[in-house]
Amino acid sequence: MVIEQTLVLIKPDGLKRGLVGEIITRIERTGLKIIAMKMIWPDKKFAEQHYFDVEERHGKKVLDNLTGYLTAGPVLAICFEGVDAISLVRKIAGPTYPNEAPPGTIRGDFCHISKIHANENNQVVGNLIHASAGIEDAKKELSLWFTKKEMHSYKRTDEEHVW
Ligand code: ADP
Repeated sequence: MVIEQTLVLIKPDGLKRGLVGEIITRIERTGLKIIAMKMIWPDKKFAEQHYFDVEERHGKKVLDNLTGYLTAGPVLAICFEGVDAISLVRKIAGPTYPNEAPPGTIRGDFCHISKIHANENNQVVGNLIHASAGIEDAKKELSLWFTKKEMHSYKRTDEEHVW
């Protein structure tokens, strides 16, 4: 059994659209446990630290649009913990490009923009949430957004039944 910790960010469009409760509920109801949470309005430098490899993967234009997106309002940062938490949250979030995200996923149910549309209009792909992609990314991202003291250890009452 692999207990993992993963970072979820509800991006500014998630807050501005009032989807915080909906998004948290979808993840929390699986039994994954919230062990840290805070609201931050990131600046450009912080956004670039978080998206340290995006320029390499997608180019400078995407990075610039992305940092503009992440700094456009407050972000809710949450650490979820549980068995295979990283891949489970990615599954609940759905694929990066909302037009490819199946119904039942957060990105598939609440957004629809394609990569082609975004690129033609020189805009970011708005997709409501960030979720760590792997163990190393999760470690790096969690240490950027939270101190050790902000991460809490406790038992959920349903741990007796969700196993
Ligand atoms: P994910 O967030 O699913 O892990 P990436 O790390 O590849 O995906 O990309 C980071 C974010 O950059 C995406 O969530 C999306 O908001 C944005 N993005 C990715 N590719 C593009 C693109 N080609 N054009 C515009 N925005 C993009």
